Amino acid sequence: MLKDSFKRPISYLRVSLTDRCNLRCVYCMPEEGVPLLHHDDILRYEEIVRIVRLAVEMGIHHVRLTGGEPLVRQDVVDLVAALSAIPGLDDLSMTTNGILLSRYAEALAQAGLKRVNVSMDTLKPERFKRITRMGTLDKVLAGREAALAAGLKPVKLNTVVVRGLNDDEVVDLARLTLQPDWHLRFIEVMPLGDGVHWAGDGMVSMREVREKIEAELGPLTPSRGTGAGIGPARYYRLPNAKGTLGFISPVTEHFCFSCNRLRLTSNGLILPCLLSNLAFDLRTPLRQGADDEMLREIFRQAVRSKPRQHHLAQQVPEAEAHILPMSCIGG
Ligand code: SAM
Ligand code: SF4
Repeated sequence: MLKDSFKRPISYLRVSLTDRCNLRCVYCMPEEGVPLLHHDDILRYEEIVRIVRLAVEMGIHHVRLTGGEPLVRQDVVDLVAALSAIPGLDDLSMTTNGILLSRYAEALAQAGLKRVNVSMDTLKPERFKRITRMGTLDKVLAGREAALAAGLKPVKLNTVVVRGLNDDEVVDLARLTLQPDWHLRFIEVMPLGDGVHWAGDGMVSMREVREKIEAELGPLTPSRGTGAGIGPARYYRLPNAKGTLGFISPVTEHFCFSCNRLRLTSNGLILPCLLSNLAFDLRTPLRQGADDEMLREIFRQAVRSKPRQHHLAQQVPEAEAHILPMSCIGG
């Protein structure tokens, strides 16, 4: 088992496949997009497979593919097939904005993907367009249906809550979990990427979201669930609900003591923590012919360097914040 300097087991790797995206969510990137990586700087599939294989040999059990938007990367199904064939990788999942999911869900499931998380911040089509600047809500809902039909279960919806943008919808969104196959997680907006413009007064604490939901829909009872991207969620159920409600509070409560994850960016950096500027370059040595042991050692260094905790509640000093956009890191 892989453990960091604070004895936390490290078993989860988030892999960003691309910094490209077919949406421009207001809390993630500017309308014109972010400066893009050069194609040659993005890890090739065989490079990702080699890194993941080594990571799994060292103790990673769960890999989540993210981006940018992972489904805009060409031949993503081939990558899923290659990764799912790695012995010891128990769980291969994906976080997607869902726009292309109806096209790929069946093929992804056939290739060995287990589950998907779909980001969806509103149930109102006009508002969806305003938040994503170019998306169509119907496509996401169709993508979710296709994922369920393909057996990519559970499908969890991720909702970033922003004051004045969608905080008036948390009760309606929570109500969805009364039906079968609806699982939802609310996330506090973080001052990363274009989130810096929304996170101050726009940040709605998970405590406030919970209180609003409980006032209208009744008391929540704790439930079991699995980890999320930005930080572990706390899971609950509404009275008589079929699905779960998760709350992820990276800003107001940190869960660093139970953090089990590393991130691999699309340009081949290993990040020990989303909220620190520490980064370990795997791509350069890999392309210079490093053997497996040299790459493992870089991986171990990243694990050893995981900070004890972040200080987001006190604002991330600029020098400590990642200069990479969220779309390159993968959330
Ligand atoms: N494009 C895919 C998607 O949107 O699901 C995967 C990448 S996206 C960066 C991963 C997650 O990060 C999404 O759920 C998104 O809502 C979330 N995210 C992006 N910017 C954020 C911010 N400033 N604060 C909190 N969550 C953010
Ligand atoms: Fe794209 Fe996901 Fe960022 Fe939205 S949150 S712009 S879908 S990478």
